[in-house]
Amino acid sequence: MSLDYKLKEACGICGVFNHKEAANFVYLILYALQHRGQEGAGIVSTDRKNFYEYKSTGLVAEAFDKETIKKLKGNIAIGHNRYSTTGDDSFVNMQPFTATISSGNIAIAHNGNLTNTHKLRKTLTAEGAIFNSQSDTEVILHLIARSKGNIVTRLVNSLKQIKGAYSLVILTKNSLIGVRDPYGVRPLSIGKMNNTIILSSETCPFELIGARFLRDVKPGEIVIINDKGITSLQPFEKVEPKQCIFEYVYFARPDSILWGKDVYMVRKRLGELLSQESPVEADVVVPVPDSGVASAIGFSQGSGIPLEFGLIRNHYIGRTFIEPKQSIRHFGVKIKFNAVRKFLKGKRVVVVDDSIVRGTTSRKIVKMVRAAGAREVHLRIASPPIISPCFYGIDTPTRRELIASSHSIEEIRKYSTADSLSYLSLDGLKEVVGRKENFCYACFTGKYPAEFE
Ligand code: SF4
Repeated sequence: MSLDYKLKEACGICGVFNHKEAANFVYLILYALQHRGQEGAGIVSTDRKNFYEYKSTGLVAEAFDKETIKKLKGNIAIGHNRYSTTGDDSFVNMQPFTATISSGNIAIAHNGNLTNTHKLRKTLTAEGAIFNSQSDTEVILHLIARSKGNIVTRLVNSLKQIKGAYSLVILTKNSLIGVRDPYGVRPLSIGKMNNTIILSSETCPFELIGARFLRDVKPGEIVIINDKGITSLQPFEKVEPKQCIFEYVYFARPDSILWGKDVYMVRKRLGELLSQESPVEADVVVPVPDSGVASAIGFSQGSGIPLEFGLIRNHYIGRTFIEPKQSIRHFGVKIKFNAVRKFLKGKRVVVVDDSIVRGTTSRKIVKMVRAAGAREVHLRIASPPIISPCFYGIDTPTRRELIASSHSIEEIRKYSTADSLSYLSLDGLKEVVGRKENFCYACFTGKYPAEFE
């Protein structure tokens, strides 16, 4: 059994403009955005003359040390936490990507997934372009290199040729540029700290570094940050935003403010509503840590059933963890979670999680809770069933592997061995997030907002 059972976010990005410790701040921001990508991290900085870069596999804290940060000179820098959705996890695919084009040096970091790069890559290769990676982001660099005009004109021309989800941070010798695709699928926020401007996938790092949240980059907006201040462009044809609803459900850190709403409060409200939609007679509410915690608190407060941390998660399982052999393979979930018998024995337990992907972990958790003495185990999921894969920058298993794509809720319940199973309704989810037409719900509905090859 794989220990990785959750959908994976495809990257965290950030940039800092006008601070003598720019690379150090980028390091701190990447550290706070670690949940968005754990395969590797990279920083590129500039002293307005030269570019300095360092990339490494592994977690942010492992990838950099004081000496490497010191070598990243200058007062503008960008950074990237990687989780691969296109290309494998090898070093060549790590970002930011840098290039020297006719207008000077440029570096780019991308969160999202482009959906028409196959054709573009083919055309560019036929015209003589040499690609160093399998990453879709490199296509953007090639398009910029081939365009004419100043960097902003080149960028606009290039972005008009690509489709899909992209939040970008771009570094030039004198500027930091932030972009969100016209649908605004992935987030990107602007923060300020004295005369320093910060871009970050999420707002949670702002507090950490003493910055204040200014605003989100709007869907379809390009912000150019240089010594003159912040300039905003909206060069794309306006479309209805389709921001990723799963950022609220699972990806974003609960202490972030996302698209005007507090992520923790949204999750709590999802749990509260779930308790009203699918009530159950029970003695204790137990969250699946960490992703189910806020919804379980909401479920507990909504239902009046007390909450206990009946499952404890081991946070220190790294990528190098050696999974047990077949003979002890059921050990897997036990290493990640431990059931606390004193809270579960003889109880009717409601286990609350944010979502079910393959169903294997839910089954093991239910069995573990029962083995710890629970009299009944009821599963409550604070989002609708996931029936379709994501093509916009989230690593999802194939449709076939998504248990809800081919099984009814009753079949999933039987498989999980739970006494009852309920998901939050799609209408409930929409009610909680508000502005319901502004979101992508494709993994719950199969209706994709943007075209893809
Ligand atoms: S398909 Fe799902 S995970 Fe992907 S962008 Fe849409 S809501 Fe987000």
